[in-house]
Formats: sequence, structure tokens, C-alpha cells
Amino acid sequence: MSAITETGVVGAVDKELFIGGKWVPATGGKTFAVLDPSTGEALCEVADASPADGVSALDAAVAAQDGWAAVPPRERSEILSRAYGLLIERRDELALLMTLEMGKPVAEAKGEITYAAEFFRWFAEEAVRIDGGYAIAPNGAGRFLVMKQPVGPALLITPWNFPMAMGTRKIGPAIAAGCTMVIKPAAQTPLSMLALAGILAEAGLPEGVLNVLTTSDSGGVMEPLIRDGRARKLSFTGSTGVGRRLLEQCAEKVLRTSMELGGNAPFLVFADADMDVAIEGAMQAKMRNIGEACTAANRFYVQRDVVEEFSRRLTERMEALPMGRGTEDGVVVGPLIDQAAVDKVSSLVSDAVDKGARVLTGGATVDGPGNFYQATVLTGVPANARMAAEEIFGPVAPISVFDTEDEAIAAANDTEFGLVSYVFTSDLKRALRVSEKLEAGMIGLNQGIVSNPAAPFGGTKQSGLGREGGTVGIDEFLETKYIAVNL
Ligand code: NAP
Repeated sequence: MSAITETGVVGAVDKELFIGGKWVPATGGKTFAVLDPSTGEALCEVADASPADGVSALDAAVAAQDGWAAVPPRERSEILSRAYGLLIERRDELALLMTLEMGKPVAEAKGEITYAAEFFRWFAEEAVRIDGGYAIAPNGAGRFLVMKQPVGPALLITPWNFPMAMGTRKIGPAIAAGCTMVIKPAAQTPLSMLALAGILAEAGLPEGVLNVLTTSDSGGVMEPLIRDGRARKLSFTGSTGVGRRLLEQCAEKVLRTSMELGGNAPFLVFADADMDVAIEGAMQAKMRNIGEACTAANRFYVQRDVVEEFSRRLTERMEALPMGRGTEDGVVVGPLIDQAAVDKVSSLVSDAVDKGARVLTGGATVDGPGNFYQATVLTGVPANARMAAEEIFGPVAPISVFDTEDEAIAAANDTEFGLVSYVFTSDLKRALRVSEKLEAGMIGLNQGIVSNPAAPFGGTKQSGLGREGGTVGIDEFLETKYIAVNL
């Protein structure tokens, strides 16, 4: 492949709105800047949609819905397969683009492009497996026919932390199910989604099926679309606070919702755990995406007998991590998304230290340019530290000690969130017992990464509603219709 350059990959992206299969400027030609979080400098300008542009995008999705629903599943599947192939073929360019707008190291960005593409491969396979049912009524007289149909035009909203995969995790099942859509990526990372729109058009997606809005006014543009009533579904990934507000807006027209919200993952290490596996799992669960993941281990609970060894070995690994711009070779700790993220991590660490935690490594910001925070390990973090209740969303590992299994489970469940929990133990009975008691939609059992397109991803409690991926992922975009047959 020819050498790819930063200006080359940014220059290659269409930066207008994608509506009805065409690239169009925002009303009045308005634009906003996309910044590189490792330098603070502008990479480019993209179209800044107004509420009127939002309505145009919804008009296009509504107009395309009936035709799209009638496209044979095999054709929908083949579009996804072609888009999968293009994502894999262009992985290096797309990864560099993602690193520039989001900051994660290029090696991780490549991993995300592969992960993102796998959702298209998975849902290409699911598109042709939408089933129904035929049953005899209990009284023997009638018959039940059950069919599944696309829910209708969908609104999709995605966060900045996985700019490509959080999109394909929604777009894949929507295409497979026969739904049209309007998608709004986060203003901080719109370029990956714009590049994806181009790829889907190239893969043969008909006009109007996917419409992309980039905007600096997410609330102002999306609320009217949610309240409009023509879209029948909102699939949102982002913070619990915003999710709650959107649920209220959806209540007006009773939209179907999928909510992938915040997390506060506990990471339990029992004394009988294989310590090599636990340390490896801890590094993955904490440092994937520089700690900016909903699945990030947010609280480490370690049994007293092994807490010293675990803390020492985790500290050694964390302090050896190279920090820098994500485009540099070997970098693991890239910049956080913005200064506000650095300030939040800083204030959570100060709060924990004020309440008695001890810093084993890191614990400080790094002079600019860029939004860097050191890889940090804290020990003796008390239960009343703010970071025990709030998402850290940065490279900070807070360790607390426990004595009994019941104590560990109670601490783990002491949160309003319920996305994922991690358990490290070599005792099979304990593994299953603890997994059953943990209040979470997903458990990493001796494993620091749970995300997999073929598995149902999602949370309980205030971490969300519904599941993405797996065999249930497509159901989020399907309605069940039952036909009562009089024989
Ligand atoms: P966020 O602030 O909630 O934003 C998420 C998306 O919602 C962005 O596109 C944002 O656009 C948009 N948005 C914000 N306010 C809105 C409003 N009033 N109306 C409509 N859209 C609105 O979250 P974030 O900071 O981007 O992402 C981090 C959060 O996402 C964390 O809490 C993380 O745990 C969660 N997350 C969850 C999952 C999961 O699968 N459960 C996966 C990844 C991330 P703008 O930014 O342009 O305003």
C-alpha cells in the first residue's frame, strides 16, 4: 500500500452532511472544527447541521423506509458484506483517521476497525436469518402466524470513545433488519462516521437508508427529531445522564429505545486467582482505550492475601507504559479526549488521596500540548471516594482490599450502574456463584475484555436497556407482528 499521511486521510473524507445519498452543506454553510486531542490543533472543519437540516435527514429516512424494507434480505446482507470487506481493506487509513480525531494509539484504532467491521460481517449473516412462527392455538381451532418486520426509521446517536464500532454496532442490525436511519456521531469525532457513510454508499446502500448529521448542537438538532413521531426508534450510546433525558423525550411518542449507557465496572481478584492472568486482565480492562471505555475497570477489589502482590505487579506494568501521541510507534497511553476529561480525572484522584488513598504510580497531569494524564495506580481507596461511584474514564486504577466473598460482592454491587463486572478466580464453584450474584449485564470471567460482535452486549440497572450484537442484536430493530388465523 502507498504511504498514508495524516493530511491525506483527513483530506479524503467528505465533510458535508450525508442526506438522501448526497453530500450537502449545512444551512448557511456553517461548519465547526474537529480537534486533535494530542495537540489541541484543528484537523479540519465539518458541516454544522441546524435543526432544519435534521428534519431534511429524517424526511430522507422516512421516504426511503418502505422501499428499503422491501429489499430482499440477501441483498441487504450483501451490502453489509461488501462494506465489511472495504473496512478491512482500508483499515490502516481508517485507523489513522480515528487516532487523529480521538487520540487512541493507532494499534488500538486498527483493533477497533476490525471490531467495527465484524459487526457488519455478523449482521450480514443475521440479515438472512430473521425468522417467524406458526403455531396451533391451544383450543385447536385457530392458528398463530408470527412475523418480524423492521421497526421503521431509526435515530442513532453515538459517543466519541469508539467512533467507528459504536456506529457499526447500530448500523449493522438496522441495515440487516430493513430500517432506514439518521445517525449523529459525537461532535468530537465525526470523521470516522463520515468515512463510514462513504464506504456504505460505495458498498451499494441505497439513497436515504443512512443519513449522517454532524452538529455542534446535538440537543437542538435531535430533540425535534425524537419528538417528531415519524422515527420509531432511538438507539443511543453515551452517558447515563444524557440517556435519561433522551428517554424522557422518547416517552412523548413512545419510541422503541436501546440505551447503552455508562458503567462502573468492579474487578474482583480472589486469592486463588492465577495472578499472571489477573494482571493481564487488569491491564486490558483498565487500559483499553486509555481507560475511556464504558467497560473500563473502575474499581479493583483484591483479596487481602494477594493485594500486595497484585498492587506491586500492576504498578510495574502501568509505570512502564509509553505515553505520547497515538500516531507514534509503541505508544499505549494516548491523550484523553479533552481538557475537561483531564480535569475530571485529576479531581477524582485528588479527592481519593484527600480521603486516604496512596499513589503507587502516576497521579499527575502532563504539561501540554495535548490532554495527557499519567497511568496511575492508587491503593487504599476508601468506599466514600467519588471515584467509587463515578466513571473515571481515564488511566487510573484504584485498588481496595476485601476479606470475604460476600464483602466483595456487596462492594461490587454497590453502584447504580450494572454494565460489566470482572471476576478472577481459579475455583469453578466460586466463579459461577459470584457471577450469578453480580448485578451486571456482562461478566468477564478470568478475562479482561468482554466485547464481541457475536455476543449480547448491554447493561442492567442504570447502564441501559436492550442488547447490541449477538443473536438478539437484530431484534432491537424488529417489531413482532402476530396474525390470528381463523381456519
Ligand atoms: P455523552 O455526552 O452522553 O454523548 C453521547 C452522544 O450523545 C454524543 O453523540 C453527544 O453529542 C450526544 N448528546 C449529548 N447530549 C445530547 C442531547 N441533549 N441530545 C441528543 N444527543 C446528545 O457521552 P460521551 O461523553 O460522548 O461518551 C461517554 C459515555 O458513553 C460514558 O458514560 C460511557 O460509559 C458511555 N458509553 C457507553 C457504552 C455502552 O455500550 N454502554 C459504550 C461507549 C460509551 P455531542 O458530544 O456532539 O454533544
